[in-house]
Amino acid sequence: MGPWPSSAAPDFAAQRAAMVVRQLRERGIRDERVLRAMGALPRELFVTPEERARAYEDNALPLAEGATISQPYVVAAMTEALGLGGTEKVLEIGAGSGYQSALLAELCGEVHAVELDPELARSLAARLEAFGYHNVQVHAGDGRLGWDAAAPYDAVLCAAATSTPSPAWLVQLREGGVAVVPLGGEEGQILCRLVKRRGRWQREDLFPVRFVPLRAPRSEDEP
Ligand code: SAH
Repeated sequence: MGPWPSSAAPDFAAQRAAMVVRQLRERGIRDERVLRAMGALPRELFVTPEERARAYEDNALPLAEGATISQPYVVAAMTEALGLGGTEKVLEIGAGSGYQSALLAELCGEVHAVELDPELARSLAARLEAFGYHNVQVHAGDGRLGWDAAAPYDAVLCAAATSTPSPAWLVQLREGGVAVVPLGGEEGQILCRLVKRRGRWQREDLFPVRFVPLRAPRSEDEP
């Protein structure tokens, strides 16, 4: 900061602090580790330059075709629902901007982030590298297959909607592990917390959400 008045530059730190209070704490997010991490993570550096001034708005923002950075409240609620303590290995599906990946990296031991769009996968990997996250591995590919090479996982977080959770996630998750996934289609989706009990999903519904669909690969997704 120079000695000049910076009235033109948005005060992102103040916007971030207000976001944590009004959008997260006052709406019931309780996990102090999640609140602290989101209070420190510069969301403005994960959105496109055109959306930067809107980075702390109470909604999702467009990233690319078929990709949005989720609303802060939804990111917080999904992360809180995983109940992370700090040592877990987490599988993330639909990493998009890498904002959720960075948050997970702050709160668990190791993250495997899968993103189908190769362009997004490249840019989020570069961004996380530049920020110095060494506990996130980005994999370009179809997250419906999970990421078998690093299984078993303690938790799965999927940021794209699907009518049914992928069988691969169930296999790759440890017994007692948690998956947080938006279930449903175009008509409506509900954010679900799924716990693996005796090899099967035990489902708890959280609240209605609207995510982009978890989709099949297209020819342009070839790296
Ligand atoms: N968590 C991200 C949200 C990204 S939106 C963020 O906050 O920035 C959902 C993402 O899922 C998109 O980037 C989309 O490309 C990706 N996606 C869709 N289908 C997928 C699939 N089968 N495997 C992996 N990623 C997928």
